[in-house]
Amino acid sequence: SLAGRSVLHVAASPVPNSNLWDQVRSELQSNLSKPTFETWIRPAVCVRAEQRRLVLEAPNPFAAGWLRRNYLGLIAEVASAISGGPVEVQIQAGDEASSEPVSRIEASPAPAPTPLNPRYTFQRFVVGPNSRMAHAAALAVAESPGREFNPLFLCGGVGLGKTHLMQAIGHYRLEIDPDSRVFYVSTETFTNDLILAIRKDGMQAFRDRYRAADLIMVDDIQFIEGKEYTQEEFFHTFNALHEAGRQIVIASDRPPSQIQRLQERLISRFSMGLIADIQAPDLETRMAILHKKAEQEQMRLPRDLIQYIAGRFTSNIRELEGALTRAVAFASITGLPMTVDAVAPLLGTGMPEGDINPKVVLEKVAEVFGVTTEDMCSSSRKRAVSQARQVGMHLMRQCTDLSLPKIGDHFGGKDHTTVMYAVQQVEKKLASDPGLASQVQQVKDLLQMNSRRR
Ligand code: ADP
Ligand code: MG
Repeated sequence: SLAGRSVLHVAASPVPNSNLWDQVRSELQSNLSKPTFETWIRPAVCVRAEQRRLVLEAPNPFAAGWLRRNYLGLIAEVASAISGGPVEVQIQAGDEASSEPVSRIEASPAPAPTPLNPRYTFQRFVVGPNSRMAHAAALAVAESPGREFNPLFLCGGVGLGKTHLMQAIGHYRLEIDPDSRVFYVSTETFTNDLILAIRKDGMQAFRDRYRAADLIMVDDIQFIEGKEYTQEEFFHTFNALHEAGRQIVIASDRPPSQIQRLQERLISRFSMGLIADIQAPDLETRMAILHKKAEQEQMRLPRDLIQYIAGRFTSNIRELEGALTRAVAFASITGLPMTVDAVAPLLGTGMPEGDINPKVVLEKVAEVFGVTTEDMCSSSRKRAVSQARQVGMHLMRQCTDLSLPKIGDHFGGKDHTTVMYAVQQVEKKLASDPGLASQVQQVKDLLQMNSRRR
């Protein structure tokens, strides 16, 4: 309804591209409904702006999925209209972005990219008893790097804010000293860079690059376990930086002594500064996190709903945030009020409840996975098709009470053993593939909405 009306009449003007997203956003703001705009468009930030390309980042995979499926075309259209030529738009989720360089750094010929997520600042970090010490140490390190706590070793479970806190150090350091060479790298990137350097005979460049950092942050160091050569090189990088008085910050999901197959000398290096752990937040802190998030994204949430969500998601802040986003999305799309009663069923088991039509399962899977229902019922073995087919079988098994042979019938007469295999495969993959898990969750949410409307 929006497209075509005002969009195509936007005057083309030669604006710097970094502004483009702001302009697109304000154009959308005046055309979309307020809840839609506030839920989906406002929270997206531009992490890269090129001549003909915008890379946007949504706060989480769920929001990124929705944006992609519902607004990608529109955003590209508006962006193209404003900039007077075709603009390609990409949407990624916050978590996926952490290894991508941000535009600001790329634009200048800095010695190394600094891929910081713009959301991961101290301002957005809620301090609770669970993170007080880690937070204090992080602040100290940003203010006087290379002094007291070197290295600072942050450890804690998944989704508890290690990456956020670590990158906050980088942001703050750059605020204090914009010339500071701040370097954030995942252990995976470090390893890949190293392999590439070895292959291309670029070890010197590799060393020069890493050793130029004033502040280096290495994320998820637990992935170094068992990688002998990476450990070797990292040991030397560590020593070079440490001796030069540069600040090192390391994050890990467990303390150094519990990382398997980690060289003793690295364990001792990692332990020579401060090891600060982040624990799971208590209820009050979880509520404070939700309040802050709601406030940042200008959502008005009743207190009892915040309390309800905070009570349900206890051990992972990423899931806590995801639940909030889903609640808001659900209310925005269905028009139902944001009450515990309306939202609770959605957050309940994570499974759509009520009467689910198998045809709708096919349709929604096809929609989310970008294939057709005919593809899914065919015998095509293309990867995308067979993935969608397997997910469809899995969801039909979970959301309906159809037997395996009946499910097979819905997919063009597949054998029940094929269905059984598919169900098992998807269960296995879901445990290790967050991208797939988020797509499956999208389908479930669509099914939930569909079942409620009827
Ligand atoms: P980890 O690296 O420990 O797995 P992240 O730093 O990626 O966890 O955090 C997961 C999500 O939770 C991020 O979106 C982050 O912004 C958010 N988050 C974590 N801790 C806090 C906090 N104390 N205050 C606000 N947001 C937080
Ligand atoms: Mg992390």
